Amino acid sequence: MGNIIVLVSGGMDSATLLWLAKKEFKDVYAISFDYGQKHKIELDFAKELAKLAEVKKHFIVEVPHLKGIEGSALTDENIEVPSENYPDEPPITTVPMRNLNFLAIAASFADVYEIENIGIGIHSVDSPYPDCRAEFASSAESVINASSVMVAKKKNRIKVYTPFLGMTKTDVLKLGLELGVPYEKTYSCYKGTIPPCGECATCQQREEAFESLGMTDPLKN
Ligand SMILES: [Zn+2]
Repeated sequence: MGNIIVLVSGGMDSATLLWLAKKEFKDVYAISFDYGQKHKIELDFAKELAKLAEVKKHFIVEVPHLKGIEGSALTDENIEVPSENYPDEPPITTVPMRNLNFLAIAASFADVYEIENIGIGIHSVDSPYPDCRAEFASSAESVINASSVMVAKKKNRIKVYTPFLGMTKTDVLKLGLELGVPYEKTYSCYKGTIPPCGECATCQQREEAFESLGMTDPLKN
């Protein structure tokens, strides 16, 4: 069992990870980031999900420097979110070192609260992003362990928990349906509109996942 802190964006992958964590771990913490994303509305969904999952504590952390850097369609007002699925690799929606920043911050909380696992819901469809690949996750785990006071004192290890790494978004959705994830309370659109734009990369991937299981996205109902 043990404990875990899960990175929760408010999207369907991190929601599924949160529900899986509830099943696999005794104490579950959540952490979400306000990094100047245009789709900041996702944080409202993250808060609701954390509440529904009855997490021990939900940390919301402001990371303003990521917006200040510019150059990403997710944060830069001068760059439009593309209405197509990852035309470039790495995509223009890449936020430089986003997951490294997020894992480092989550690891700070893990160190103080003595949390042994850090969960991140990256999967194979995310692989155009360098910080969503297996090499990134295992390297991040090494550096977190090398930096940790808890590890130095207790001689145990912190694990970066990535159960979806070899899975597609459809696999993740299938698992989430078994776990009873409330997908109508998740939000994925990069444009931050209500209703979701239906055109950006995450909207398309979300729709494809539901369609491949012969379902309609419950957020649309
Ligand atoms: Zn969208």
